[in-house]
Amino acid sequence: MLVSAILAEKGRDVATAAPDTPVMSIIEDLSEKNIGAIVVTDERHSVVGIISERDVVRALANQGATILDQPVSSFMTQSVVTCSEHESVHDLMSKMTSGRFRHLPVVADTRLSGIISIGDVVKTRIAEVEREANALRDYISSN
Ligand code: AMP
Repeated sequence: MLVSAILAEKGRDVATAAPDTPVMSIIEDLSEKNIGAIVVTDERHSVVGIISERDVVRALANQGATILDQPVSSFMTQSVVTCSEHESVHDLMSKMTSGRFRHLPVVADTRLSGIISIGDVVKTRIAEVEREANALRDYISSN
């Protein structure tokens, strides 16, 4: 299945923040939206970073509560791996596995157009495996 099909099903909403957003506001957003990462974008909606719950926990452990008033740009990952709508779920699995992260922003024409999490990948793969098993079962019973 392609990224475009996953996005058609789950929607294109992405939680974003500007680089100068204080970390406290990022934490509130992560908690309220029950998500694991926020994509940091500039005024043209291009991806300039990503901050996940792991970055927040690491920064809190290293520097304590002083981080809460500081901008997210100080703690985000700047070299973000992205994907396009034409990539397959297998491409995403290999990017997530080799990069050891659980979120992939989708970019179209240099702009953020969606996000795929590891939960979306697992859900898609389970549906694919179930479809394959059913097709095999139908084939066996009709022969
Ligand atoms: P995650 O597994 O998504 O919570 O992220 C683990 C670490 O990888 C954190 O330091 C994130 O900032 C970073 N990270 C998450 N997604 C990406 C991505 N698509 N490209 C690069 N780094 C990422």
